Amino acid sequence: MPVLYISTNGTGEAIPFRKALMQGMAPDKGLYMPTEYPLFNRNMIREFHKMTYPEIACSVIHPFLSEELSEQECLDLANKAYTFDLPLEPVDGNRYLLRLDRGPTCSFKDFGARMMALLVQYFMKDNPYPVTILTATSGDTGSAIASAFYEMENIRVVILFPEKEISTRQRKQMTTLGKNIEAIAVDGKFDDCQQMVKKAFADPDLHPLNLTSANSINVGRLIPQSVYYFYACTRIDPAAEERVLISVPSGNFGNASGCLLAKKMGLPVQKMIFATNSNDTFPKFLYTGIYRKIEPSIPCISSAMNVGHPSNLARIVNLYGGKMDETGLITVIPDMKSMCRDIFSMAVSEEQTRNTISHAFREYGIMLEPHGAIGWAGLDRFLEEERPSMGADSISISLETAHPAKFPEEITDILQIDPDPPTSIKALDDKQEKIERIDKRYQPLKEHLLGCC
Ligand SMILES: *Cc1c(COP(=O)(O)O)cnc(C)c1O
Repeated sequence: MPVLYISTNGTGEAIPFRKALMQGMAPDKGLYMPTEYPLFNRNMIREFHKMTYPEIACSVIHPFLSEELSEQECLDLANKAYTFDLPLEPVDGNRYLLRLDRGPTCSFKDFGARMMALLVQYFMKDNPYPVTILTATSGDTGSAIASAFYEMENIRVVILFPEKEISTRQRKQMTTLGKNIEAIAVDGKFDDCQQMVKKAFADPDLHPLNLTSANSINVGRLIPQSVYYFYACTRIDPAAEERVLISVPSGNFGNASGCLLAKKMGLPVQKMIFATNSNDTFPKFLYTGIYRKIEPSIPCISSAMNVGHPSNLARIVNLYGGKMDETGLITVIPDMKSMCRDIFSMAVSEEQTRNTISHAFREYGIMLEPHGAIGWAGLDRFLEEERPSMGADSISISLETAHPAKFPEEITDILQIDPDPPTSIKALDDKQEKIERIDKRYQPLKEHLLGCC
């Protein structure tokens, strides 16, 4: 029986992976979720210790699309996607930092974007009409998508980014590629970019463009984002016996959804810590059951997490048996008790973020950037509050989701050290940028999309 995908809004039929991948969002504006989950028992998870990252990726991802791609083909794609390291740094006792910042664009978004792009390319070989990938970015999605789809045939990529909300290096990762990649600076906020993208998807005049989305709601990104949890846990504990704590700095909650998926598939996770910046919609919802989006979102130095209405929350609610639509309206209440048992959440202030970067560097010699610092601070708080009740030395893993050199101004300001950029970032300095600028009205975007194809 193949795994099928169904919208969190519950209308429409269950469809195969390839269709869910190409559509991005469901026609009823919900997010696609698998109707079934592969289950890995302890013996199977133990095997992961001996496997390479691409092999684990294939084992985890393939059951979700087994009817549509052979295992060998899936492994080939994983080998192509994952050509970089994921350092797991022991920090203090049983506490680890998992660095997901060694991909070509230096954020964890490379993990989802690269596999997704290769899958899109794979499925397009039977259906070679041109598609346009249209996506809004708060910084890292755009660069990861641009790099992942770069030079792929029949695929045009158009990225909208908020001109004043992203770092120079983030911008340059999108604007220096050229060829099939178009980066458009919008005079507005991330939310405005996202609004424009949504309008474009709903606009029948754009149907001939075969628009598809590559933002974090796409299942093609979601599923690969559950793989590194299996990897990290089995590197630390080959016997897969310990129950671990995992801390994920969260904005749109795609990474967090990946973690929940891993747990659902059998990974022995004791507690998930989902910390946010001042955009604290999720912790408030978790502890009150009331969902109130923050509009407009609050600008913080962890800019990729400036999300006041996290789209993937619909998925989390779904995983706990509830139903939330795209506006945040809850029509079926999820099992909040189980959710609170599995998840700890808190908001980290700007001051705490900076203090954490400074403290982690002085105390442990590790360099964090603002996003990773929020995960670290969340774990700190959880351990302070809850450790006595759960055994003194559980293994804990905190995710670092970007490279400090993506945010040199902040890091220099806090640590008085300019982080050493990896080669891919250094190479940006000499490259020529090509940027189109538009205001936040929909019409100019529409004209641009229709104008040059
Ligand atoms: C996107 C991003 C996040 C937030 O991830 P979500 O899946 O949106 O919660 C955190 N850190 C960095 C560096 C990011 O780019």
